[in-house]
Formats: sequence, C-alpha cells, structure tokens
Amino acid sequence: VPTAPAAVAARPCAGPGGAAEAALLRHLCRKVRASGPVTVAEYMREALTNPAQGYYTRRGGIGDSGDFITSPEISQVFGELIGIWYISEWMAMGKPNAFQLVELGPGRGTLTEDVLRVFNQLASVLSKCDVSVHLVEVSPKLSEIQARMLTGGKVQPNPEDEPVYMKGISKTGIPIFWYRDIQDVPPGYSFYLAHEFFDALPIHKFQRTKKGWREVLVDIDPEVPDQLRFVLSPSSTPATENFIQPEETRDHVEVCPEAGVIVQRLACRIEKDGGAALVADYGHDGTKTDTFRGFRNHKPHDVLSAPGTADLTADVDFSYLRKMTQERTTTLGPIKQREFLKNMGIDLRLQVLLQNSRDTATREQLLHSYDMLMNPKKMGDCFNFFALLPHHRLVQADKKDKPELKSPLPPVAGFNELLLK
Ligand code: SAH
Repeated sequence: VPTAPAAVAARPCAGPGGAAEAALLRHLCRKVRASGPVTVAEYMREALTNPAQGYYTRRGGIGDSGDFITSPEISQVFGELIGIWYISEWMAMGKPNAFQLVELGPGRGTLTEDVLRVFNQLASVLSKCDVSVHLVEVSPKLSEIQARMLTGGKVQPNPEDEPVYMKGISKTGIPIFWYRDIQDVPPGYSFYLAHEFFDALPIHKFQRTKKGWREVLVDIDPEVPDQLRFVLSPSSTPATENFIQPEETRDHVEVCPEAGVIVQRLACRIEKDGGAALVADYGHDGTKTDTFRGFRNHKPHDVLSAPGTADLTADVDFSYLRKMTQERTTTLGPIKQREFLKNMGIDLRLQVLLQNSRDTATREQLLHSYDMLMNPKKMGDCFNFFALLPHHRLVQADKKDKPELKSPLPPVAGFNELLLK
C-alpha cells in the first residue's frame, strides 16, 4: 500500500456501469480531490448508505436473486428458533406485561415475520403481554419490502421529520414502527435483534509500519483514471490515536466505532429498562486482521470498484462489542451458529417438519437448508451468536437472609440447552 501523496492531481471520474452507478464514484472522487483521501469508514458509509446512491438505499440485494443470502432467507426454522429464544428469556425474566421487539437492519423482514409467527402460535403463553415491533432501517427501498412482507403493504407514512417514519399493523395484529436510528426507539423493556447488521457498519483500517500505526485511506489512483486505490496516511490520524490499543499484537486491525456506539446504547437501555439483545453475525474475538470484502451476484467483488453496486462487509469483532458494553450488561458468547441452533432444538424441529411434509422435494429442501445453516464448512462455524443480558439474569441478587426465596436461575437458552418450563 503506497503512502498518500500530499496533493492529488485533478482527474475526471466517470466509472463503469450505468449513470446512476457512476454518480457515487464521481461524488467520492470530488470529495478526495477537495480534501484528500477519505477513511475506509467514510468510503464504506457512502458506498452502503449514501442517501441517494448507497447500496442499501438503492439495491440491498438480499436473497437468491440478489447479491448475498442470509440465514433467515434460507430457512424459516432459523427465525422460529430465535422467536423461541425471546419467549424463553421473557419467561425467565418473570413474564413482564409488555415488551418491544426491536430489530436493527431487518433486510427483507423475513426474520421478524418468522419470529412473529412463533409469537402468534404461542399466543396463549403471551396472551397477557403487550407486544410491539420497532424496526431500525435506513433504506427506503428495504423498508418498503419489509412493510409488504409484514403488513401486506398496509402502512401509513409519517412526515419526513418525525422519528417514526412509517407505521403499520402486522398480519397477526401487532403494531410495527419504523425508525432510522436506535435512539428514536422509545424507552421500555425491549428485546433487541441484530442479524447481519453490525457487519454492514463502517470500519476503520490500520496498518502497523516501521514508523508506527498508520490508517488505511481511499485515494484516486494517479495511474489509472476512474479508479480508487488504498493508501496509507503519511502520519497518524485521530482514529489511529483513539482506536489502537497499546497492547495490540496484530499488524493490521479493523475497528468499527459505530458498532461500539450502538452496542453501548443497547447496553445502557437494557441496564435501565430491562430486556436482552441477541446479535448474530460472522466475526471473531479480536484475532482476525483483514476481513473487508465485497459481494455482488453472490461472487466476491473488489471493494473499491463501482461503489454502491456491491455489498461491503467486515467481520464483527465481538471482543470490541464486549468491551464497549462497559460491563453495563453481562455478555454471552460468541458461540458458533451450529451450537446455538443445536441448543435451541433445531434437530427436533427438523424431525417434526420432515414428518409433516408429504413430498420428497420439500423434504430435500428442508435437509438442504439445515445443512446450509449447520454445516461447519457452510454457515455453521463462521456465524456466531452473542447476547447482552442484565446482570441479574445470570447472577442472583443476594438473598442470604431469606434462603427460602433462593431458586436457581434458569439457564439462558441457546448458550445452554433449551429448558421451557
Ligand atoms: N437482517 C437481515 C438483513 C441484513 S443486511 C438479514 O439477515 O437478512 C443489513 C441490513 O442493515 C439492511 O436492512 C440494511 O439496510 C441495514 N442497515 C445498514 N446500515 C444501517 C444503519 N446504519 N442503520 C440502520 N440500518 C442499516
């Protein structure tokens, strides 16, 4: 990676693809020419969520016909088991009389749809509980798809400046609200869900050099018109000072401060109002280095080419998330997806579905999707589950003076075997 030159020669940027696709590249090139190379975080934010040209804003291609596939899109069983996780935690926490289900980055809305189906099937258990759904989504395009999936399209848009930009009622009669930011979701006892959300948030990248840590930046390639390239900052940047730990041993590090801020908000809310958060994503525990990558039409895509046309992603650093909770909550995991789903009873659920399906094609489909979710070489090992829970959920308040009140706390499902009482 070359070091950034002091000034970048002005050069027109047209870029490949259609006019709309080239617009984002042009916009980025203008920015670089005006004020120098941008951080990878700024590049990633623009490429994914630029209000006019970002990938999620315009395209957000999740599913077979899109750019990438996610577990909830592979099998309904995935979302059903997550629905059971929430019910099991709701029971373990003494069945509070209301909760909000808050999903960050709901994609096509499939996961919430599957969770709500379970809530509906277990309506007798939840009967006295007031449930509402709160979706945090920046993409107008995806929120439209979610509205169709969850409400059948019966939604009411709100004025632009309102924190709730849309509302509707689920097919099962539960109120649903849409927001752009977690801070706009009203306080209250909440179960949070973030599936393949944190990996889409912008990362900073750093490289160890002989002169110390340098930030990786995105610049215009002086040799090739219309092409971006990575360079190293000539000196350390504010991010280098703030985000690299003195005890760091790796030579290359990715940090996602936005993930840190959001996890901190979740931890504060859970500490104050109660609830739990379930985070599922690919990631590591502070060990990996260069994981920034792109996908388009289910194939790897050069992260710097045609920004806005491909999904960009980086592994989630769970050790960073844990640190950012600042011990406001207990954390569990990360544990592998195949272990979590196994603990949640996926094998039994598969058996029931196989017994209930008459035709071979459905049975094959069930087995195939089970393999996709569970096979260590597919999604079983690289995806992880991680949870935030109030401290009192795992460590009982001291009841020394009243030993008769002491009953063992139920184990947390998924991270242990499921016990529904
Ligand atoms: N959870 C879904 C979708 C994952 S894709 C699934 O597993 O299928 C990432 C999702 O996060 C998309 O819905 C995208 O529009 C949304 N997203 C990305 N950045 C966001 C941000 N900064 N704030 C809110 N949502 C965001």
